[in-house]
Amino acid sequence: MKLLRYGPVGQERPGILDSEGKIRDLSGIVDDLEGKWLADLSWTESLDPSTLPLVEGTPRLGPCVAGTGKFICIGLNFADHAAESGMEVPPEPVIFMKATSAIIGPNDDVVIPRGSTATDWEVELGIVIGKPAKHVSQKEALDHVAGYCVINDVSERDFQTKRSGQWTKGKSCDTFGPVGPWLVTRDDISDPQNLKMWLKVNGETMQNGSSATMVYGVAHVVSYLSDFMTLHPGDIISTGTPPGVGQGMKPPRYLKAGDVVELGIEGLGEQRQDVRSEG
Ligand code: ZN
Repeated sequence: MKLLRYGPVGQERPGILDSEGKIRDLSGIVDDLEGKWLADLSWTESLDPSTLPLVEGTPRLGPCVAGTGKFICIGLNFADHAAESGMEVPPEPVIFMKATSAIIGPNDDVVIPRGSTATDWEVELGIVIGKPAKHVSQKEALDHVAGYCVINDVSERDFQTKRSGQWTKGKSCDTFGPVGPWLVTRDDISDPQNLKMWLKVNGETMQNGSSATMVYGVAHVVSYLSDFMTLHPGDIISTGTPPGVGQGMKPPRYLKAGDVVELGIEGLGEQRQDVRSEG
């Protein structure tokens, strides 16, 4: 099932796509797509979207998960991306946090922050946690995944690497976390390690990869993280990007106001962001 949130910023309502790709309102069933409804998706089992109220028009889509407590990202998780970044594949997953205040809808504007000259793109497979996960094995890990979504892990490379400390500064700026369009429930994705991933800037293909070349896959990452912290329903894990980021180009190429970024993952839908300056 493709679960979503629609409506103005801060006033999103839960919805679901029907078999014709139309939005149906879910607010008579759940109050929002937040952790408490994602921990146990049994309410979706008897759901017949065609019986729910049809949403007219093409409303804005919000992030497909509400109330995310943690937004954890995996760094350098594709060998070829590590190489273009001039880094080695790490012996264990590298993790960093993205501030949850960076989360926006899939088609909202990305804002280049004040002072930035190196704002970059990263198409990533997002994991949305369902059941709480603490010390789960790789074999059990997928039972704790509610579903998957597209994420653009927007990154300011100078803030990330030249401003001292960890990567968090370059990953957490407002609007640096488009999430959606849908949360595709786990039962709809037979193999998360075989999904095409792509990203274009102004119509030009920049990233054209697959989750098949991920170093540490979904089950590994969920199990690994659960040994360090409890993963809660609604937490998001962004699993790293394939090659083709602007930083890896010669010379590097970064986003500027007026650019249009489009990205998608097989089976998970597409995003489109207009880029503008904070000023
Ligand atoms: Zn990333």
